[in-house]
Amino acid sequence: MPELPEVETLRRALTQELEGTKLRALHIYEPRLVQNASERDLQRALVGQRLRAIGRRAKFLLFDFGKYTALLHLRMTGWPTLSPIKNPRFVLEFTQNKTLSLSDTRRLATLHLVPSARADELPPLSELGIEPFQPNYTFENFRAILQSKQEIKKLLLDQRKIAGIGNIYACEALFASKIHPQRRAHSLSRSEARRLFEQIEKILAQAIAEHGTSVRTYRVLTGEPGNFQNFLRVYDRAGEPCVRCRTKIVRIEQGGRGTYFCPKCQGHPHPWPLSPRGRGE
Ligand SMILES: [Zn+2]
Repeated sequence: MPELPEVETLRRALTQELEGTKLRALHIYEPRLVQNASERDLQRALVGQRLRAIGRRAKFLLFDFGKYTALLHLRMTGWPTLSPIKNPRFVLEFTQNKTLSLSDTRRLATLHLVPSARADELPPLSELGIEPFQPNYTFENFRAILQSKQEIKKLLLDQRKIAGIGNIYACEALFASKIHPQRRAHSLSRSEARRLFEQIEKILAQAIAEHGTSVRTYRVLTGEPGNFQNFLRVYDRAGEPCVRCRTKIVRIEQGGRGTYFCPKCQGHPHPWPLSPRGRGE
């Protein structure tokens, strides 16, 4: 599933190709794609309009056509491409002979139409939590979110609390911060929370610089894989030796998702009987 770095990589490539062109035609081939409008509504609102900018909020791509914005979420297998494909879920024809198609084998991608001026106030964007690289991603806001009994890994995946992080980068950030994924969020000490807060942005920035991670289906706009899979230290490495301590990496399930961690250098899931200073120092 594309996470923040993969969506940001696509946003940058799409911007280069499409910004400033006008939408000439729009065709929807997957009825489940559009969440809050009809194909006719989309055509009325967007066809003939200039694509002013392509933005991103968490894992949403924002196609800003002036008065209205289309929000695309790629979910599991969605992939926008400028090349002709079989069974596109939508086709957008732009001026300058550019055609944007959406490939989506699992058919879970979504499209919303919202008034641009109120996009942040309306669902789905209004439901998103604080986001790395945005002004609201402060240590104080992050600490406030951690005041929860939820397991820290599950909390990192909750888009209503922190937006943009998915399974890969949650595993990597916890490994880099030496925090067990099953720790209760409120049990993190101030210094552990600080490490995690900083590692999240550091790892996401590295992944953006490497054009994202291609573990399964994700590809950059041209069809090439990203490069960050070569820098993963824990994700998808069950049974391999930890890069820090050589202990075998373990895979467990948390909320139906695979979690990868080092049972030695990421410590214990219940730290406070072992370390009296572990809680709230
Ligand atoms: Zn280790």
